[in-house]
Amino acid sequence: MSEQTNPIVEALFLGPKAENRDDFRSMVADALDEHMFWRRDYFPADPAEVGAAERAAAPYRATIEATEQVLHELSARLKDQSVPWFSPRYLGHMTADTLMVANAAYIMTMLYNTNNVASEASPATTLLELEAGADLARMFGYDTRRSWGHITSGGHTANYEGLWVARNLKSVPLAMAAHPRAKELVAGLDRHQLLSLGVGAILDLTDDLKRRGIFTEVRALTARGAGAEPGELGKLIVPRSRHYSWDKAADVLGLGQDNLSPVDVDEHCRMDMSALTKTVEGLIAAKTPILAVMGVVGSTEEGAVDPLHEVVELRRRCEERHGVSFYIHADAAFGGYLAAALRDQAGAFMDLPQARQRLDGLSPHPGATWPKPEVHAAFKALAEVDSITADPHKMGFVPYAAGGVVMRDRRILDLISYEATYLVQSFAKDPDWSRPVELGSVIIEGSKSGAAAAAVWSAHRLAPLNVDGFGRVIARCVGVADWFYQKLSHAPEFRAEGRRFTVRPIMAPDTNMVDFTFLDLADRSLAAHNRLNEQMYGISSYVSGRTYAHGFNTSQTRLTRSAYGDTPRRLAAARGIDTGDWDAVGQLALLRSTVMTTALDGPDRLEQYWQELLSIWQADLTQIARGELLRQTTSDAVAPPAVATPAAAPPGQ
Ligand SMILES: *Cc1c(COP(=O)(O)O)cnc(C)c1O
Repeated sequence: MSEQTNPIVEALFLGPKAENRDDFRSMVADALDEHMFWRRDYFPADPAEVGAAERAAAPYRATIEATEQVLHELSARLKDQSVPWFSPRYLGHMTADTLMVANAAYIMTMLYNTNNVASEASPATTLLELEAGADLARMFGYDTRRSWGHITSGGHTANYEGLWVARNLKSVPLAMAAHPRAKELVAGLDRHQLLSLGVGAILDLTDDLKRRGIFTEVRALTARGAGAEPGELGKLIVPRSRHYSWDKAADVLGLGQDNLSPVDVDEHCRMDMSALTKTVEGLIAAKTPILAVMGVVGSTEEGAVDPLHEVVELRRRCEERHGVSFYIHADAAFGGYLAAALRDQAGAFMDLPQARQRLDGLSPHPGATWPKPEVHAAFKALAEVDSITADPHKMGFVPYAAGGVVMRDRRILDLISYEATYLVQSFAKDPDWSRPVELGSVIIEGSKSGAAAAAVWSAHRLAPLNVDGFGRVIARCVGVADWFYQKLSHAPEFRAEGRRFTVRPIMAPDTNMVDFTFLDLADRSLAAHNRLNEQMYGISSYVSGRTYAHGFNTSQTRLTRSAYGDTPRRLAAARGIDTGDWDAVGQLALLRSTVMTTALDGPDRLEQYWQELLSIWQADLTQIARGELLRQTTSDAVAPPAVATPAAAPPGQ
């Protein structure tokens, strides 16, 4: 759609009832046909290697039948044990129906089996990956002439890549001071000053090194070549709400988990700025370097958005007052794609009133108030951070495995690269097949799926990353999340077996994730509360058997004292939970709903859905009150649909 017609959200997905099955089937059939013609038409005069008689022979048929049998067995297992993400009855993890175009593109590309480790193995899809990366960079407000981005296997790898460049960058000034011909460029700086230089300043120095022809020699003395002593490069400051991939990253990259410096979160589960400021100032006073500050855009457990605009401002202040700078990475693995809803069709970042007005017009729930001013400001500040993780396989509605990372200044790639990185970028603009580009030389992974990159690229083409394109999908998610939060805030009491229960959200969502909790009014202790919510989770998840049989499926989280400090206790107290036993219990168990359904498309449908939820929860609480903890799931109401007979029509032609 280059001459843009705005996408209709319902036409983007296969749909909860596979409503678009005829269209999807024909898209996939076309993809198969096209691929088969491609094979057939390669040197048309070449003989067929298998003749009709041979294919009709009994042993041959037996192999084909055995193939079908394996596939039937696989299908049966998938249908029996998979989670129905596609349904609005699933509000749990960051998984939902995926875009039809992405699914079809994935299937199509998979048949060509391209490997994006090197353009030689993926002439078509390496370019798609770079273009998809540039789409992400544009969505975050980066200058695509200077930035770069690509598709990773997921948020883990994207975070590893962010920390990888930050680590190598941090060690450049030390390496320069240790090199006889480079040290004059950093003369007069003491060790602490060397470790406090800003990202732009260090990258400018690397330009000097390149001009002098000593870049490679100096690079060999950075952490990449010489390694780094534990703690030498300073602390990686992270919020307590960080994803555990950061702990893994500190381990894998040899920084050591002791060099993570966790900062408390506030009652919105966002990084607490006064705590961050204290940590940063304490480190500066102690002359301990700051390797990087990581902020989360959409925390994994709460969907909270850290105040990145204030982190950027803090960095500016530290540079001004103390001459100390640091790298900033935004982990927007979950929330990154929400940025699409904040850009207008021309790609400009909309101000708050304009964004709200546009999104309210697209929301199925009128009066939606996304984004909050702080969230809007944080998204705007993404343009100023050094690198960003954003997962297409989360809020991009693209099938696994597709994460993404973008870096603001692509010169940083030279610090990790095993080949001149200008090649990667010039290749993207003007492919030069005499020097195929190795994506593998600037990324963590090796062999990787070109199909995933093609799926992301196709999604971005069909529903561009602005409010009129993909923003329409996002508007449903944040709109319904806001509705869900409002409904939970005013939900009626449940009565079962003489007991009274309430359900309440735990905080107003920053994104499209709502954490909520059930409470038995006769026993408000934290221990009893946690037990009740674990039982509710059991009934509403794979724990009690096939999710296909459950009327509602969700996920859970536990905010522990060891990770979150005292914040969960305060959140619990505000919800009427008696936290006298907090010291003994030390955690708050919650239900966690990522709202990614686009199927609830208006006030009437929402109301009908809410009534259905209330009756499901009424039945669940009754069961719990009676002590029948887990539902019988073996002989359950909903039998899995029979395995479909494969379509008879052969591709023909
Ligand atoms: C999901 C998530 C990750 C990890 O992403 P994967 O794609 O599962 O590897 C990292 N950070 C945050 C904030 C996440 O939500």
